[in-house]
Amino acid sequence: MEIPTRSLATEAVHAGREDLAALGLHAAPLDLSTTYPSPDSRGEAARIDEFAATGAPLEGPQVYGRLGNPTVARFERALARLEGTESAVAFASGMAALTACLLVRGGLGLRHVVAVRPLYGCSDHLLDSGLLGTEVTWTDPAGVADALRPDTGLVLVETPANPTLAETDLRAVAYSCGSVPLLVDNTFATPVLQRPAEHGARLVLHSATKYLGGHGDVMGGVVACDEELAGALRRIRFATGGVLHPLAGYLLLRGLSTLPVRVRAQSRAAAELARRLAGHPAVTRVRYPRLGGAMVAFEVHGDPHAVIAAVRLITPAVSLGSVDTLIQHPGSISHRIVDPADRRSGGIGEKLLRMSVGLEDVDDLWADLSAALDAGAAGADPAEEADRAALSSVPQDPPRGRAARPGAR
Ligand code: PLP
Repeated sequence: MEIPTRSLATEAVHAGREDLAALGLHAAPLDLSTTYPSPDSRGEAARIDEFAATGAPLEGPQVYGRLGNPTVARFERALARLEGTESAVAFASGMAALTACLLVRGGLGLRHVVAVRPLYGCSDHLLDSGLLGTEVTWTDPAGVADALRPDTGLVLVETPANPTLAETDLRAVAYSCGSVPLLVDNTFATPVLQRPAEHGARLVLHSATKYLGGHGDVMGGVVACDEELAGALRRIRFATGGVLHPLAGYLLLRGLSTLPVRVRAQSRAAAELARRLAGHPAVTRVRYPRLGGAMVAFEVHGDPHAVIAAVRLITPAVSLGSVDTLIQHPGSISHRIVDPADRRSGGIGEKLLRMSVGLEDVDDLWADLSAALDAGAAGADPAEEADRAALSSVPQDPPRGRAARPGAR
C-alpha cells in the first residue's frame, strides 16, 4: 500500500496531476471521448482479455469510455492518495459505488451482509429490500462479531452516521470483522478528519456528490481500496455501466484541491452552531460528532417542518457537503424510504433535523437559524398537540431541561 509521505493539504492540490508539468499543462485536461482509435485489433483483443481477467487499468492508449477515462483516472489516483489506499474506483453516484461493492460480495458467492444502523436511507433500503440478492443482519457495533456467519461477505458501517451522527470505533469493528472485509462510508468525515483504511477498513466509500465535489453541482461515488478489490470493482463497473462522467471527474479533481480548507472552515462553523443550538430554548437535543465535521443534527420542541419552512439564508434541501448551508428533515426526505419502525430504532425521530454547514459567516447563519427556530417553536406541531390533548388529564412531568451538550449522544 502506498502511504502518502506529503501532507494531506499538499496531496489535495498535487495528487493526480504529477505528469502535468511534463505535458506542458497547468490544469488537468478534460477528455470527453467515448471511444479511441484502435488500429491494432489483435493487440486490443489481448488487452481486453487481460482486463476481463484482472480488472487492472489498461496500459497505453484508451479503448472505450466504459473501460476507463484519463480524467476520471486522475481523480481516482488523487482520492486514493488522500485515503491512503493503493487504488480507487469512481462511479456515477454514491449508490452506484455501493451497488458495485455489494456485487463484489456477490461475486465471492457470499450473500450475507452485516450492517450497522443508521445508514443513509437509500443504502439502508438497498440492503434491506434484498434488491441485489443480499441478506442483511442489522446490528450495533458491539454485535458485529456475533452477527458474522460463514457466508458473510461484507460488514458495512457509516461513521459519523447519516443522519444521527452516531460514531463507531472503527478499530474495534475492524477487529470484530476478522477476515471479512469492512466497508466504511466516509462521506461525512472525508479523509480530512478520518482515514478508515488506517483503522482496518478494506473499502472506503464516498458519495463524492457531497464534500469531495463540495459545490452541489456534481454527482459521483468512489471506493478507495486495495488493488485486488479495485480490479473486481472495475470489472463490475465495466459490465454494469455505472461510470463517472469525465466532466464530473474533472470537477471532483478540482474539488479535492480545496477539500481540506473547506472541511476545516465548515467544521469550525458547525461546532459553533452546535454550541449555540444547545443553548436555544426550542432545541431539546444536539448531536455533534466528537470527531468534528460540518454536519449538525438536532431535535426541536415545536414543529420541525415550520423550522424548515422559515429559513431564508439556509437552503431547505436534502444532500450535504456544499459550500452553502442546507437543512432537511430526515424522516421526510433522506430517510423516508426506511421502514418507520427501523427509522425510530435507528434514532431518526420526527423531531430530528439535519444541517450541513457551509462557508457563510456563522453569525449570519445563526441569525437565520435562530429566527427559524423561534418560528418553529411558535408553530404548533400537530403530532405534539395530539399528544398534549391525550395527556391533558394526566399529571405532567416538570418541564424538560435545556438541550444536551454538543457531543452528547
Ligand atoms: N452515503 C451517504 C452517507 C450519503 O449521505 C449518500 C447520499 O446522500 C450516499 C451514500 C449516496 O450517494 P449518492 O446520492 O451520490 O448516490
